[in-house]
Amino acid sequence: MHITLLEIDNFKSFGRKTKIPLETGFTVISGPNGSGKSNILDSILFALGITSARGLRAERLTDLINTGSNKNTAEVHVSFSDGTRITRRIKRTANGYYSYNYLNGRLCKQGDVLAFLANHGIKPQGYNIVMQGDVARIMEMSDFERRKIIDEIAGVSEFDLKREQSMAE
Ligand code: ATP
Ligand code: MG
Repeated sequence: MHITLLEIDNFKSFGRKTKIPLETGFTVISGPNGSGKSNILDSILFALGITSARGLRAERLTDLINTGSNKNTAEVHVSFSDGTRITRRIKRTANGYYSYNYLNGRLCKQGDVLAFLANHGIKPQGYNIVMQGDVARIMEMSDFERRKIIDEIAGVSEFDLKREQSMAE
């Protein structure tokens, strides 16, 4: 399964609705510094359900809303090759924000989106996406921390967690 289409609306530097089709195989996004390349990846992470603003290179989640617009929402749709389309929308409110998730246009819980992704081996917090600085960070880690990443990718840590839970019972 792969992403076939990204639709970005009022998210970060994308003040205008932007459609980015993705072909199968290897895709390269090039452009000058500050032109929004990393923001495209941020939009994917946002839609997949990353909840920490820092993980999206923003101080607060509401900073994801395009600053040049007078709308108070940002929205990203990600379409997959199996026809599923997930959407995340964030809305600025008087004292914070609301976050909405949709599966094929239907309002749902974030857990529903996460369950769909997990079914296809995609973990928003995992290493499906290597962020700027990650490589250096991984090199500077202790052997133990690096091993934890390998366990995570190999799916071993899930069983470690289950074992710990059952031992505690
Ligand atoms: P580099 O080559 O340096 O990595 P890049 O193409 O990855 O650059 P991004 O980090 O994606 O660039 O984009 C940075 C730009 O996005 C900055 O100009 C910043 O002002 C803009 N930006 C970030 N958040 C918002 C926002 N909420 N509204 C408008 N613009 C934003
Ligand atoms: Mg960048």
